[in-house]
Amino acid sequence: MAECSFCGEKFKPGTGLLFVKRDGTAFFFCGRKCEKNLLSLKRKPGSTKWTQAYQHAKKAGKAGKKVERKQKEAKEKKEKPKKAKKRRVRRKKKKK
Ligand SMILES: [Zn+2]
Repeated sequence: MAECSFCGEKFKPGTGLLFVKRDGTAFFFCGRKCEKNLLSLKRKPGSTKWTQAYQHAKKAGKAGKKVERKQKEAKEKKEKPKKAKKRRVRRKKKKK
């Protein structure tokens, strides 16, 4: 049983894809979805929700860090005194 390099799922021999980079590193993919996500979309398995790597990171408490940081930043923003925002007014185009 080969294991997918992206999502971590096991798949039957004779199915899936094998991608070998120029430098010789080999990637096994369970399907086109995983290949696309890793190679062309350049997503990381640790930050893609439907992968096993994400689930492991979530259990270890690493996956939620990004959200926590965002919440912290939002809190800090709230504490700072707000400046009056300039309003942008869209002007309507005149019809000829
Ligand atoms: Zn996969």
